[in-house]
Amino acid sequence: QMGSQALDKTVDSVCPFCGVGCLLTYKVKNNKIISVDGRDGPANQSRLCVKGRFGFDYVHHPHRLTTPLIRRADVPKDMAVTRDPADWASVFREATWDEALDLAGATLKGLRDTHGRKALAGFGSAKGSNEEAYLFQKLVRTGFGSNNVDHCTRLCHASSVAALLEGIGSGAVSNQVNDVDHAELILVIGSNTAGNHPVAATWMKNAAKRGLKIVTADPRGTDLDKHAWRKLQFKADTDVALINAMIHTIIEEGLADAAFISARVSNFEALRDSVRAFSPQAMAPVCGVPAAAIREVARAYARAKAAMIFWGMGVSQHVHGTDNVRSLMALCLVAGQIGKPGSGLHPLRGQNNVQGASDAGLIPMMFPNYQRVDDSAAHQWFEDFWGMTLDDQPGYTVVEIMHKALAPESDPHKVRGMYIMGENPAMSDPDLNQARRALASLSHLVVQDIFMTETAWLADVVLPAGAWPEKTGTVSNTDRMLQLGRQAIDPPGDARPDLWIIQQIAHRMGLTWNYPGENCGVALVYEEMRQTMHTAIGGISWERLQREGSVTYPCLNADDPGLATVFTDHFPTPDGRAHLVPTTLTLAAEKPDAAYPLVLITGRQLEHWHTGSMTRRSAVLDALEPVATASVNAGELARLGLTAGAMVTLRSRRGTLDVQLRRDDGTPDGTVFMPFAYREAAANLLTHAALDPFAKIPEFKYCAVCITPVS
Ligand code: SF4
Repeated sequence: QMGSQALDKTVDSVCPFCGVGCLLTYKVKNNKIISVDGRDGPANQSRLCVKGRFGFDYVHHPHRLTTPLIRRADVPKDMAVTRDPADWASVFREATWDEALDLAGATLKGLRDTHGRKALAGFGSAKGSNEEAYLFQKLVRTGFGSNNVDHCTRLCHASSVAALLEGIGSGAVSNQVNDVDHAELILVIGSNTAGNHPVAATWMKNAAKRGLKIVTADPRGTDLDKHAWRKLQFKADTDVALINAMIHTIIEEGLADAAFISARVSNFEALRDSVRAFSPQAMAPVCGVPAAAIREVARAYARAKAAMIFWGMGVSQHVHGTDNVRSLMALCLVAGQIGKPGSGLHPLRGQNNVQGASDAGLIPMMFPNYQRVDDSAAHQWFEDFWGMTLDDQPGYTVVEIMHKALAPESDPHKVRGMYIMGENPAMSDPDLNQARRALASLSHLVVQDIFMTETAWLADVVLPAGAWPEKTGTVSNTDRMLQLGRQAIDPPGDARPDLWIIQQIAHRMGLTWNYPGENCGVALVYEEMRQTMHTAIGGISWERLQREGSVTYPCLNADDPGLATVFTDHFPTPDGRAHLVPTTLTLAAEKPDAAYPLVLITGRQLEHWHTGSMTRRSAVLDALEPVATASVNAGELARLGLTAGAMVTLRSRRGTLDVQLRRDDGTPDGTVFMPFAYREAAANLLTHAALDPFAKIPEFKYCAVCITPVS
């Protein structure tokens, strides 16, 4: 730490990593961030986890891209995506901004004009600002000409959003994390909260000391278990069995909230009939949790004066992810545990701005503010607002776009050109060998990023972007707090802010945008976005954000503090009621067998974030977790005849990698866990691209693998 006298300045901003959205202050000297302090934000009250406190130096890493690059004509796209990033000159040559932008814009425009508007697609980013997300989706919709725009929400909570929109008319959380202070019980399911949302977990742990009952439910043991009143370690893939057995208990034992159901819920009879078959006795052997434990937790949840459900990607990343969330909603609604302080539903959003990027319309079936592209009134409104003819059919999702890139030439919807801003599908998509083949097959790929990512190696044009502390913009956290990040340092070399680059591409696609002003016109972009989202952020002007820094939405008026708890008297559905949707048991797309006897679960770990492009370039974080590991329990180690630290080969039907074994007794029998942040052992080489049919989210949480010692 340096004394404030020695600093050039301190700049208030937001943590760039997870969806908790901790406010922080950058301490800057000579255009370098020296250290970071937690700030008294509503989501963190000055707390930071190890990533927020120590993970800032990636912005100064020598691997930063500092000049536009164009692929050398004689270098094929050979899928060698894990080269040394310092060796970029073997594949690319330096270019001026005009040369790179002209090539990118002209080629994308040429593909559109030759092959039609479905020939292009764009992946935006949940790591960027709301303004960048808004402009990016506007570019794809008005410039590329279709709704082929998506981002990593498809890979994390698409099923949660689909189920929530269907059931209660809103995809965001009903209550904020710190509302645990008003709860008597919380159910935390499919979430390693202490590892993935560490500061959110501190609210839970503190409340537990004051008497909050925490129930953890997860196939893997997690650090929150130490603070739990009850722990339900259920078999992976059986979420619906466990949750429906709880609903069965609540209805059978007369604990359902009849008044709430009568006043605010529809389709109860169908749900009641559907859960008859899910008695705890029948489901105990299915989900591996004793019937008495299911009943005890169900009773406690229903009888609690206030109870919340938190869930993470353990719930959402399945082919039955939407059904998992439908069941959780049904549990909540049948017990009447929503619409009051301490009672509600909270899908813990993963990335810093995945909530905001979705709100801003970075999804293929929705305009900003979740207005369907195939709703004629919404479609007409946006055509008038943007002054352009728009596609009225939903576009393709992340994995579908990859499939369309590999489609035969005769397919009229074959994707031939892509613009990828701040996402790394060559690491984050399932079945990476196929995803990388798809990216390599594109006629033209433009990648905009801060590092030479695995995706950038497959690009034709690479555009060097500004990192989060190098720009000004807003992000929205998991709690529906709209928060302002301010520029603290200048980008290195000739790197430019994303907002500037998007506008330059738009001009070259023939769009006549004009956003003058400081910071690439961010205030004007925000105010335009606000007009499209007036029912959510209409009361939050750019000036107000400058003053307050963080405002909860929905917030409709300038003097409105924002609603921390929503759905208090009605749901935002056509009839104001929540709609129950019965669910059935669906199996994972690929079950273990003799050849591939183990289940692979992928996820994250405390020190690393997403595909590791930032945290693995942070000295402290990489020193803490420098090596890719695969975790199994002691029994599994014994069965394999191996010890922790041994190098093994993990193999699935789709790929192979070598990795070090780690002992973790929280990992259940027959299961192996791997984080997906390590380029040298990319877990998604193994995962399955099977999709949930409703939300199109891939099944990252279950596929079959085998382990053999490295020969
Ligand atoms: Fe950043 Fe999330 Fe850690 Fe807060 S909890 S400091 S937002 S990574």
